[in-house]
Amino acid sequence: MAILKIVKYGEESLRQKSKEITKISKKIKVLAHDMIDTMYANNGVGLAAPQVGENIRMFVIDVSLDNEPFNPIVFINPKIIKKEGATHEKEGCLSFPNAFVDVRRYSYIKVKATDLNGKPFIIEAKDGSLLARAIQHEYDHLDGILFIDHTRNIFEAIKVLEENNLPKIQEDKLLDEKELEELLALNKAENNDQQ
Ligand code: ZN
Repeated sequence: MAILKIVKYGEESLRQKSKEITKISKKIKVLAHDMIDTMYANNGVGLAAPQVGENIRMFVIDVSLDNEPFNPIVFINPKIIKKEGATHEKEGCLSFPNAFVDVRRYSYIKVKATDLNGKPFIIEAKDGSLLARAIQHEYDHLDGILFIDHTRNIFEAIKVLEENNLPKIQEDKLLDEKELEELLALNKAENNDQQ
């Protein structure tokens, strides 16, 4: 067991696309456990392999509450097979210490992955839950996408990065998520109707 060093925003490896895992070797298993330890040591709810310097398609998540037993989930070669609805929430990332930015996400997702024993599994996460958002966040890391790319307010993102002495936002990486924005506008209109 080891606590690994976390790669910080600004390092080019965070922008690389990670490779599929072809064999769940001893090395992969040790790495998964070290990633879980590293996530807990940093009070994170998720950690992706590229964040510890390994550009391979694996991430770990634990969204259990403080008063609940630990429940780490290892995702190997994940694929998001369904996504619906929209939500937005402030998010952070262990590669961006202390920086929190309002980002767009799908509120429902269905993901398929393999566990450490090579067994496939499917998880559905709905209602914009922490699990739904965490899976999208960590999944993105495997494609070199970072949470700030989903910002709803570039001025806020610029300010937050600056305040935390992090490198500048990469405007060419910002995602144009018209569909999510339209859904969010629709959600807001519906909420107003109900009041
Ligand atoms: Zn992250």
